[in-house]
Amino acid sequence: MGKYEILALVNVHHSLKGADIPEETLDKLSNQARAKWPEPWVSATLQAIRTRNLTGIPIKEYVPDDLVKERIALIGDAAHVPAPITASGFNESLQDAAELGKCVAKVIKGDAAVKALDKYESLRLNKVRQLVQSGKSFSYSYGRS
Ligand SMILES: Cc1cc2nc3c(=O)[nH]c(=O)nc-3n(C[C@H](O)[C@H](O)[C@H](O)COP(=O)(O)OP(=O)(O)OC[C@H]3O[C@@H](n4cnc5c(N)ncnc54)[C@H](O)[C@@H]3O)c2cc1C
Repeated sequence: MGKYEILALVNVHHSLKGADIPEETLDKLSNQARAKWPEPWVSATLQAIRTRNLTGIPIKEYVPDDLVKERIALIGDAAHVPAPITASGFNESLQDAAELGKCVAKVIKGDAAVKALDKYESLRLNKVRQLVQSGKSFSYSYGRS
């Protein structure tokens, strides 16, 4: 995880209603829209910004390198954060919980517990990495640097 992404995770608390988005941010968005979007989208975007008819949604993304460390396993957004555009973060969080539940259902002691968590990681890590990366690709396709 890069430094920028760590800071974003710590500072992001919630979405902002249009009325609460700082003027300076709206000016930056307008400039970006003018530079990057053709008609008719640029006019629609500028109208939404002008009338503050928009929601500021924090986009935080985190591609995990692991989900387990010894006897600790992470699930959900604590383990991986996909951009909201994937519309899958909650779903995948539930899948984490379900798989983890299955893996530890029989063995929860000693080395067997560690192996059960490793099994959970082997079942979920690639899937959740791909999920976050799919959101990143989407952002890049919209011109995010
Ligand atoms: C704008 C937006 C749209 C989304 N749309 C979708 C969608 O359409 N479909 C979908 O599947 N997913 C969607 N998601 C993703 C989804 O909301 C998350 O992936 C999901 O909520 C993760 O669940 P979680 O339980 O892991 O974490 P959270 O829902 O973040 O729950 C963690 C909880 O822990 C609490 N907490 C944090 N720190 C502490 C502490 N120190 N002590 C006690 N409590 C603490 C928090 O207050 C919070 O209630 C969207 C996300 C966003 C931001």
